[in-house]
Order: sequence, then structure tokens, then C-alpha cells
Amino acid sequence: MNLTEAVKAAGVVGAGGAGFPTHVKLSARAECFLVNAAECEPLIETDKYLCRTFPDQIVAAASAVAAHLGAKRTVIALKGKYRAEIAALEDAIRRMNADVELFRMKTFYPAGDEQTMVQQVTGRCVPERGLPLDVGCVVDNVGTLLNILDAMSGRAVTEKYLSVVGEVKEPVVLHAPIGTALTDCVAAACPTLADYALIVGGPMMGRPLTDRAEIEAAVVTKTTGNLVVLPGDHYLFRRASLPMETIRRQAKSACIQCRMCTDLCPRYLIGHQIRPHLVMRSLWREPGMEDDGEYLRAFGDAANCCDCGVCEMFACPMGLSPRKVNGCLKGELRRRGIQVPRETEPQAREYVEEHKTPTDRLTARLGLLSYCGRHAHDCRTVAPESVFIPFRQHIGAPAAPVRAVGDTVSAGELLAAAARDGLSANIHASIDGVVTEITPAGARLRRREV
Ligand code: SF4
Ligand code: SF4
Repeated sequence: MNLTEAVKAAGVVGAGGAGFPTHVKLSARAECFLVNAAECEPLIETDKYLCRTFPDQIVAAASAVAAHLGAKRTVIALKGKYRAEIAALEDAIRRMNADVELFRMKTFYPAGDEQTMVQQVTGRCVPERGLPLDVGCVVDNVGTLLNILDAMSGRAVTEKYLSVVGEVKEPVVLHAPIGTALTDCVAAACPTLADYALIVGGPMMGRPLTDRAEIEAAVVTKTTGNLVVLPGDHYLFRRASLPMETIRRQAKSACIQCRMCTDLCPRYLIGHQIRPHLVMRSLWREPGMEDDGEYLRAFGDAANCCDCGVCEMFACPMGLSPRKVNGCLKGELRRRGIQVPRETEPQAREYVEEHKTPTDRLTARLGLLSYCGRHAHDCRTVAPESVFIPFRQHIGAPAAPVRAVGDTVSAGELLAAAARDGLSANIHASIDGVVTEITPAGARLRRREV
């Protein structure tokens, strides 16, 4: 079995993003292999922990993947301020005599965005709505890389490292089986609030969960890298719950056309055609706009929005939400079947370095300063009595179950097979257990003694 096949069999997907099946990325040849350890959202601790704890494994896996891709350059990109992590990785590189570089990034958001990282490391700009591979790069998150290393030894993805931060006694890294209830994770982190709400992921791009039933139903998946525990009335939840009609009304009445949203937009900075201030200016015309050509001219830029949130959470002095407006317009562009032309050779703006969003100021704007400066030192193992394993933890079609209720399974055994056509990924049992329930969404396993 070659590396791509091993990774496919093990069900490896992007651990730090939307869950793109990794075997697809590894089917290509690339000039540069980039390991993303920048972890740019405020408060998250997971990738730092992995770099400190598993430097040898990270360097070994990076070298193996780079050789597989035929890459001439192998780079681990992380924040320059991560001194302990850099020291650990440098030591591993020296001892292993590995041809791996470290790239020290500044502390800004979104340093961990793939396209931003490619521009920073190589100077090349990924085309609009393109992939790093379009400019000769493959990027994998550091957690994904460790899963690739496991796959090389025949081990499937069954566990996840994630940090839990915010309203907890102290930030902690957890090692939990896939399918562990998020409430078990929060309990393991000693919350300081009984009635908490959660952000699954980072405070900028994560999924807010405020409803108790939703919180109790949510589980760790292959892409869960962090939980932020917060009071339910925190600014971030109030902001996320604003109805679209209110957002539209505010946009039409309060936008002062200062263009800060455009000037700080990370996609605009790497030369993409995205000018949210112009979209906001035209928004009042949108409801009655029937001509598709006119719609494309006014709102086509929205297609290039990556949902990073810099415009709404940092740039806009009026508290408006170009991100959500763009999200809405993207849906309408799709509904109308409007094809937005792509710039395939964008050039970074000359002020790309000066217009970065500093993480400390962003953290203050998000109302998270009181949780700053506390770091996770421990890693605790979570061993739940039961898990619910979703069949879709990745971009693409859900996996199809291959086991039935009553079956006995061991951790690492195939539970649901990747769909044959298109993007999909295998799903494996994460504990030694018995299948007690199968639904269209996933399978529940109860732990058994072995
Ligand atoms: S969310 Fe805002 S800042 Fe981010 S890419 Fe979209 S328009 Fe630009
Ligand atoms: S930053 Fe806010 S006020 Fe300024 S142009 Fe953008 S949406 Fe309008």
C-alpha cells in the first residue's frame, strides 16, 4: 500500500479545517510541502502542544510526505513567538539531519489561513477560489501530519487532541476518542460556569452553540481542534445571533464607506477581487435587481470571501457585518447560477505586510482579553463510556455503515466506508465497544471491557 492508499484507508482528513480528505491532496506532485502549525485564532493551544510534544514525529512525517509529493522544499510554518516549539522542532531537525525549514510567522490573524500562509512563505498568491496546489504547494495541518504518520503504520484516525479554553479552571489539552460528547470534554476541563455556551473551533470561525440540547448532542469529530467555553450572553454569541434582516438594515443605514473592511481583508491583500465596502454600498439595490449581469457586477466579489470575519469582528468601526452579507450574496449567486470569473494570477498588494490584523488587538475586540495569557500545560485523556461517531466528518459524501447494531468492534476497525464516488472518507470505531444504535447521522458505541 502506498502513502496515498494508506492515508485513504485510515480515513485521514484535514484536522485543522473543514475536513478535506487528505488522500486527495496526496495524489498530486508539488514543489513545496507546507506544514501549518500557525494556529492563528486567539486562545487555541492544540498545535503548539503537538509541536512541543511530538517534534520527532512531525519532522519524520513532513519528510515522508515531502518525498511522496516530490517536493523540493519542506517548511513548517508557525508563529515566531513560539519559542519552546521552535526549539523542539529545531532540535529534531538537527538530530534527524532532515531537510526541513522552519518559517517564523508574525502574530496576526489569519496567519493559519492556507492561502495567506502560502503567500507569506513562497510569495505566490493562490488564484481566486483556487487551491495551494495551483501554485505548486500542498498544505497540511500539523495534526493531520501526525494522523498521516499513524496511517503509515496502519493506524486509523480514532482520537483527537483538542484544547479547551475560556471559562475553565485553566486551559487544557485533551486527548479524546472521536465521538466523545463535548459536555464530557468541558467537564474534564473543570468549567467555572454551570450554564455555559460553547464555540466549537476558534472564536472567529468556529461554530457557536448556545442551545442546551445542541450542546449536549455535539461530539468530537476529526476536525474539532478547540472548544471555547463562555457565558451564554457573551458578545460573540450576541453578535452571532443577529438576524439577517437586522444586518441588512444596519448595512444600508450605517455604512460610512470608510473601506476599512476592504483594506484589511486578507483575501484583498493577496490580490483577490473582493471589495466588501462596494458590496455594502450596493446592498440597498439588491432586492429588486433582476438582471444577472448587473448582479454580477455589484455582488460578484462576494464569491471570493473566505468567511474569515476580519471585516466584521475587527475592521468595521460601525459594527457592521460584511462577512454575513457576503455569505448571503454567495448563496444568491449560486441560486441564480451566476458564474463569477476568476483571476488566476493575483498579485499581493504592496501593503500586505502593514495591513495585517494583530492578534492581541483582535482578542481585545472579541471581548476575550480576560482569558489571554493562560496556556495549556497538561494533556488529559478522556475515556467516555459511550461515543456517537458521525458518518460525515469531512467535506463530501457521508460514509456508509458496514456494521450493525449488536456488533462488537475494536478501536480502529472500519465502522463506515467512504462513498465510492467523489470526495468521502472512511470512519472507524474509536473505542472497543458494542454498536448500540445506528442512525443516518452516525453510530453509537458503548464501551466494553477487553
Ligand atoms: S470575511 Fe470579510 S475580511 Fe474575510 S474574506 Fe470575507 S470580506 Fe474579506
Ligand atoms: S468598514 Fe464598515 S463602515 Fe467601513 S466601508 Fe466597510 S462596512 Fe462600511
